[in-house]
This record gives sequence, structure tokens and C-alpha cells, in this order.
Amino acid sequence: MERGVEEERILEELEDAARRNIPYGRVLSSMCTVPHPIALKACKRFIVSNLGDPKLFPGTASLERACIGMLGELLHLPSASGYITTGGTESNIQALRTARQLKKADPGRANIVLPESAHYSFDKAAQMLGVTLRRAPLDDELKVNVDAMRELIDRDTIALVAVAGTTEFGQVDPIEEISGLAQDEGLFLHVDAAFGGFVIPFLEDPSRYRFDFELPGVMSVAIDPHKMGMSTIPSGGLLYREEGHMRALEISAQYLTSQVQFSLAGTRSGASAAATYAVMRHLGREGYRRIVSECMANTKLLYDRLKAMGLEPVIKPVLNIVTFKVPDAQRVRKRLCDMNWYVSTTSRPEALRMVVMPHVTREVIEAYVADLKKVLDV
Ligand code: PLP
Repeated sequence: MERGVEEERILEELEDAARRNIPYGRVLSSMCTVPHPIALKACKRFIVSNLGDPKLFPGTASLERACIGMLGELLHLPSASGYITTGGTESNIQALRTARQLKKADPGRANIVLPESAHYSFDKAAQMLGVTLRRAPLDDELKVNVDAMRELIDRDTIALVAVAGTTEFGQVDPIEEISGLAQDEGLFLHVDAAFGGFVIPFLEDPSRYRFDFELPGVMSVAIDPHKMGMSTIPSGGLLYREEGHMRALEISAQYLTSQVQFSLAGTRSGASAAATYAVMRHLGREGYRRIVSECMANTKLLYDRLKAMGLEPVIKPVLNIVTFKVPDAQRVRKRLCDMNWYVSTTSRPEALRMVVMPHVTREVIEAYVADLKKVLDV
């Protein structure tokens, strides 16, 4: 394109593209939601800052440190180290990279033991790091079987992974037990709480699901502000119990102002840290508790409505994810899509999956259930 196009025309093109996007209102498949307005304001103000070069942006860097402090407090370790990542995928890749660096493992032999339900980002990590994944089977409630994890450990195992809020079913692994296993075996334990990290602490009885640094075996945690944290995309959090562990990722970065870098991305957005800082400070625990309590009440509403239709749940919801068995789930998903409802399906077992994010209100659920009845002819 030799000649540029005038601004007005481009803005029209952008509007046109934006209008073709699906508004969150009828989306029950996503783990993201409309960000809090204060996160949007902060994002806009800091969009030009680059945390890959933090000495040029000391103000933004201080916001990132404050985010890590707040996330650490939430996860029972105010002194935790870490940084704001692009999301759960980067956090999981970096956590496994840390374990590999710490063990100075031979990549050709090293393995990681994790639940069958762990997110596919671990497959990306394994490919990049050249390590093998050993996936342990789940029990009837879709939590990992800890005895099976123990049996998979051998002398080349470099880390264990547990999940606090599985992507498909929202289940929480028995992390207290896995923490004990990690300590017995002297292994690095990473907890993927990308989804559950901003839900579990705000449940009515959070002590039912202990998952974070209060468990002595937990060495790192992934927690995503851009999911239930109400921040803007891309905002993830990777936290470490020990600063020295994060330092295992250090790479010399001579041409920059900071000399060393431990993040996966080089140039990285300061807007994510600013947005996360703003929304966490603004909502406080009280605000998140209110949001989670509403999501859980709506989760129960959807669960009760689907049960009343005679459908069978896969598990009783632990977090704000509802899964029900329906005959030919793929066909049902497509029919719902034709009616502008966006849900997803799970594979094992096959089921319809709905994530009750803050935009999935009572009214949305009632309208959705009415349409689902038509699709299922009940
Ligand atoms: N971990 C869990 C448990 C997830 O549910 C997801 C995404 O859904 C991820 C990691 C990856 O997060 P992201 O897509 O933000 O990289």
C-alpha cells in the first residue's frame, strides 16, 4: 500500500470490525469477561510503557511490584516474587522452565508429572523445553489421583503440577496432598490457578480448597487477572515462593537499562500491570467477594435449572463452571450457536460446558435456558 488512508475511513473500518465481534453478553464459553472500567482507564494511560525496559518506566515498574505484593497477599505470601505475564500460558511455560533450570536437568530425560486435566499450555511448554509430560489419571470427581502421580515419579522427574480450577470442569486437585508429595520427593510444585486464583479466595468457605503458598510444598503459582480478576487482556501473574527461583530464569540483557531479564517476552506491556493494579486496588477483597458470590449464585441457578430439565451434571460445580451431559453435545453446541449462544463442549466425558462469568447474569441464564429447552425439545 503506497498511499495512506484518511483517519475517518480507517475508524469506520475499525468500527465495522468491532461490530463483527461477538459481545460477551451471550458468551458462556469464555474465561474472560468485560474488564472493569477502571482497568480500561489505566490500560489506556499506560499503553505506551514497556516493562521490558523498566528503568525507562520506573513508575510502571512500581505498579508491577505493587501487583505482585497484592497477588502475594491474596495467595498467603506477601513477600512472594514474580511478574505480570501475558496469561496462564506464559506463566506455566516459565514455571516449568524454572524447574528445569533449578534441577540443571538433562532435557532429553527430564519429565514432569501432572494431572490429565492440566491445560494444553503444558504441552507447549514441554515441546519448547524438550521435557516429557507424564499425565496422571483422574478420579470419579475429575480430581487427579495422587497415588497415580506418586507412581509416575522417577529419578528424572523435575517437577509436579497441580490445578486449582481445571479449564474444562472447574475442579480443584487435592493440592494439600500433592504439596506433601512434593516435599517428600524434594520436587518443585507449580500450581496452575490461572482461573481459580481469583475465585477460591472469595468463596464462602475458601479453606475447603487450600491451593496456594500456605501449603509449604507450593513453589510457584499462576493466577490470571485477565480471567476472574477483571483486568484487561493480556494480564497474567506468575508468583514464586523464593526470589532465587525466579532468578534461575535470568538472562543478561546488555543493551537495555536493566541489564538482566527473566520474563519470556522481551518488550512487554506496562498497561497490563497498570490495569491490574487499578482494578485490584479499587475492588479490594470485598469487591471480588461480591463478584464471586454473584457468579456462584448464578452458577447454582443454571445448575438447578438444567437439573430440573432432567439432565445429568458431570460434577457438582466447585467453581463457576457448569457441565452437563447431553445427547450429541457437538450438535447441541452448533444449534445453540445458530441462536447466537456460545458454549463449549468437553471431551472426557463429552458434555456441554458453560462458564458463569460476571457478564452471565440471571437474565442471561433464564434466556439461555429457555433456548436450550427448545434445542433439546424438553
Ligand atoms: N491454565 C488454565 C487452568 C486455564 O484455564 C487457561 C486458559 O483457559 C490457561 C492456563 C491458559 O491461559 P491463557 O489463555 O491466558 O494463556
